[in-house]
Amino acid sequence: MNVASSIKEVGQFFSFEFFPPKEKQAWDNFMEKAERLADLRPLFASVTYGAGGSSHENSLDVCETLKKEMGIDILAHLTCVGASEHSIDDFVSRLKDAGVSDILALGGDGRCEEGNNESRFLRAADLVDYVESKFSDVGIAVAGYPSGHPDSPTIAQDINYHCDKLSKGAEFTITQLFFDNRQYFDYVDRVGDMGFDQPVIPGVLPIQSLGSLRRIMSLCGASIPGDLYCGVEKAFKNGGDEAVMEFGFNFAQNQIAGLLKGGVPGVHIYTLNRAAMCERLIGSLKSDGYFA
Ligand code: FAD
Repeated sequence: MNVASSIKEVGQFFSFEFFPPKEKQAWDNFMEKAERLADLRPLFASVTYGAGGSSHENSLDVCETLKKEMGIDILAHLTCVGASEHSIDDFVSRLKDAGVSDILALGGDGRCEEGNNESRFLRAADLVDYVESKFSDVGIAVAGYPSGHPDSPTIAQDINYHCDKLSKGAEFTITQLFFDNRQYFDYVDRVGDMGFDQPVIPGVLPIQSLGSLRRIMSLCGASIPGDLYCGVEKAFKNGGDEAVMEFGFNFAQNQIAGLLKGGVPGVHIYTLNRAAMCERLIGSLKSDGYFA
């Protein structure tokens, strides 16, 4: 069964995002963390594509190793940046050879910069359309933005674009990180009001350090409530990154419990390729009766 089908079959689940290391020297350390996280038995792992400058070959290698050696089902990210029909066919065929049959179709950052947009694939919707028509056995997911995509003039416009991807064949959504659960539930309601009932999996970022939080927020354009950011800064001032980890653990545990209580299909955790925080979170949520 592919990921798109299995998320509709199981009860509330958790899944992880990994990003392939850019340098091969970082590979052993990455695999050690991935193995620890695989032992928690996530429903699937997603593997980023081109993010942070990692190569497409690294993405394929990571997808193949996690699938074949660790037995994790994979959702492979794929972006429009530099994409052609040939490159998409090649990537998806090689994924299928590795036993991977789900993709997260994305616009990709930098797709509209000069030199990156010569092909007909400019938006995630173009990719959904193409993969859906060419590979009917591949499950397709797309990204959604509970606090709006930075390119969108309004949230309503953003939701219209999102629904276009769903109408072209996307089977589920993974959201950008957010910290206020009300934004997620409001987003799901608004997409539902447009007549779409595909599962929307909330993406959750456990805060692990002040530096990584700042870096990620500046890259992804998501928003963070002022009092939460002040709380992180205060924790850092009082106890450095160890205190931030503790603060981040408590916040993520409450956030995920709130989402699960609200009836989400599952949660997708942005691991930042680190194991300890996720091990602690999943252990603690399981002992509270979640993910039974
Ligand atoms: P799209 O759906 O194409 O569009 C994004 C926004 O552009 C829309 O929300 C809308 O505001 C606007 N838009 C869309 N269509 C139109 C139109 N016709 N006219 C005007 N405006 C329009 N990036 C990577 O490079 N690699 C990754 O692996 C990666 N993984 C990600 C995983 C998740 C879960 C998320 C949320 C993001 C990820 N990103 C990744 C970042 C993503 O590529 C960027 O956010 C990108 O800017 C938008 O991608 P998208 O698929 O949402 O694009």
